[in-house]
Amino acid sequence: MRDRATQTRQCECETMAASQPVGPRDRGVGSPGALHWLPAGKTAAVCFSVDDIHPATSQDSYEAGGDLAAGGLGRLSRLQMRHPYLKATLCVTPDWRLNSLVPRAGLLRHLPWVRRRAHWTRLRPSGHFRIDRYPEFVSYLNSLERCEIVLHGLSHAHAGPQIAVEFQDESEQECIGIVQRGLDIFHAARIRFVPGFVPPAWNAPPALIAALDRLEFQFLASARDVLTPVSPHAVANMSGLKAVSLIYPQMVGTHELVHLSCNFQATSSADRALQILSLGGVLHVKAHIFKSAGNYLMLDGLDELYCNYLDLLFTQLHRSFGSRLWWAHLSEVATRMRGGV
Ligand SMILES: [Zn+2]
Repeated sequence: MRDRATQTRQCECETMAASQPVGPRDRGVGSPGALHWLPAGKTAAVCFSVDDIHPATSQDSYEAGGDLAAGGLGRLSRLQMRHPYLKATLCVTPDWRLNSLVPRAGLLRHLPWVRRRAHWTRLRPSGHFRIDRYPEFVSYLNSLERCEIVLHGLSHAHAGPQIAVEFQDESEQECIGIVQRGLDIFHAARIRFVPGFVPPAWNAPPALIAALDRLEFQFLASARDVLTPVSPHAVANMSGLKAVSLIYPQMVGTHELVHLSCNFQATSSADRALQILSLGGVLHVKAHIFKSAGNYLMLDGLDELYCNYLDLLFTQLHRSFGSRLWWAHLSEVATRMRGGV
């Protein structure tokens, strides 16, 4: 898996994402002693989240859930059938617009004023993949057992070279407007969702965190770091938020917004998972619903190969930790971290 994965291209939209420090208003750094969020009898947690789910089918540029059981969501369900304890957080984009994941602005990139204001890739018209126009897709998502749904941006698109980084230099009020539009579409679609947010391409600038606070979100998963060595005091230093705990949930923002870092993907070793769980952390496994879009490859795309790897990994974790392991939704960890049960 590692050899194969390293031959693929890293996700440009992720590596280009401007990472942000946590900022002076953030608090509640995770520590090995702060394990009050674990239920009685549990010593560590496993979470699994899948990004970029929207109604595109295999007849479109890439299948992102629209083929229902015949596509990526079917592979997820089969994985969950083999592991009846496995829960998944589905990160759904309400009005996906990226028709290609490869930036190509041509001459535009050489014009200083235009380069940041023009879209560097092909976009679908606004509303084309708006989920309230796909009732069968929404109904299917709502029917999935052991799956929760969170907001994954609004359109997953932005003008300028960072084509998939939806939140960049917007003001807090602009962030509120974008997130609220996504919530409005979720409500119109009658999709069942929980108050969490996974920002497109990981990036959560302070204005977005403030907006999520204002909108009373309960949790955020921004940082992704699959390289920093695991230790009790390790902090994320790759994509998205930096200086947040790599393996423990912690509070960010000014209210009760819980942050959970992603620390594992298809290119990670089983030893990394065992180290995180041995330290009483949250093993947060990431996948993307599609593997490829044209010549663009996702390292952690949920193809059969990654499913097979996760099948072996989850079997090993279950054998190693047994009932001590808490297979949880992100929202369940956040709820307990905030003092709920
Ligand atoms: Zn995404």
